[in-house]
Amino acid sequence: MKDIDWDALSFSLTPTDWMYVTEVTGDDAWMPGTLRPYGDFNISPAAGVLNYGQGLFEGMKAYRTAEGRLVFFRPEENARRMQAGADRLKMPPVPESVFIDAVEQVVDANRDWVPPVGKGAMYVRPILFGSGPILGVAPAPSFTFMVYCTPVGPYFKGGMTAIDLLISEEHHRAAPGGSGGVKAIGNYAPGMLPSKAAKAEGFAEVIYLDAQTHSCIEEVGAANFFCVKDGVLSTPSLTGTILPGITRASVIELARSRGYDVREERVAVEAALDADEAFCCGTAAVISPIGSITHMDTRHVFSNGQPGPVTLELYDALTAIQAERAPDTFGWLHEVPSLR
Ligand SMILES: *Cc1c(COP(=O)(O)O)cnc(C)c1O
Repeated sequence: MKDIDWDALSFSLTPTDWMYVTEVTGDDAWMPGTLRPYGDFNISPAAGVLNYGQGLFEGMKAYRTAEGRLVFFRPEENARRMQAGADRLKMPPVPESVFIDAVEQVVDANRDWVPPVGKGAMYVRPILFGSGPILGVAPAPSFTFMVYCTPVGPYFKGGMTAIDLLISEEHHRAAPGGSGGVKAIGNYAPGMLPSKAAKAEGFAEVIYLDAQTHSCIEEVGAANFFCVKDGVLSTPSLTGTILPGITRASVIELARSRGYDVREERVAVEAALDADEAFCCGTAAVISPIGSITHMDTRHVFSNGQPGPVTLELYDALTAIQAERAPDTFGWLHEVPSLR
């Protein structure tokens, strides 16, 4: 293992040794790529991604479990989501087998950088983009699929803390018919202004409402939203403006298996503010309890600003499966093979 201060890790970039690269021209078939030393690379100033934002990213984790294994959490889902995104952005989808081989190779080659059990995870970042030069607005003539990774610390260091959120009145994340349902890189820069403004006011993130009616909750920054009322879970349905989170899908399956009624529906702001508990979820934080939501200058507090019981139950159940402290009954874990 690398000689680094694992306790000092946060969610920031620590360069590792190896990255994976493969390229394709036009409609040719993707071929497995190769590992290269991690570092900068050359790109045309006219690359499609630099000029027109033809690009996608994924985010996933590999980590050591209580059983001493090194595993991914549902990597096939990331592969499929990137394929759906590639279709939407007119890029050639990377076959699932190439994607899985790529993330396995990168994590295996950078094994020494994976934090010890409980000290965090290897965050893996696959990216797919139009790398060939193009002047007219059209798909790039060639594409690059790369994977790099970086160790990150545990999201909650000193125990779980509930976050304070602000509903954005002025900005929306995604419009019907747009690209909000895929991890298109262009979806994220427009959120930086509202997010920074909210953070300057002491909030952890913004909540976006739907662009059409500005009355229903869509997402929390880059995480999916859930609320709980009288033991019933509710989350915005996947209408095309919601990013289909893999954590979201896992929470739904897990909650249903534990006997909860989970509704995928339109979540009106009023209903959400009237809930007993609320949380958001995504790969980075797994499940983050929401302590309060501020809407039009009024602050609505959930369960006294503490994580609610259903939130805690689901967090414990999901993290127990991920850490192999509970059986992997859904078959969600995928071991990273030793390839070298
Ligand atoms: C990535 C992402 C999520 C969470 O997806 P996971 O697969 O659970 O990590 C939610 N919303 C947005 C906008 C995202 O980009």
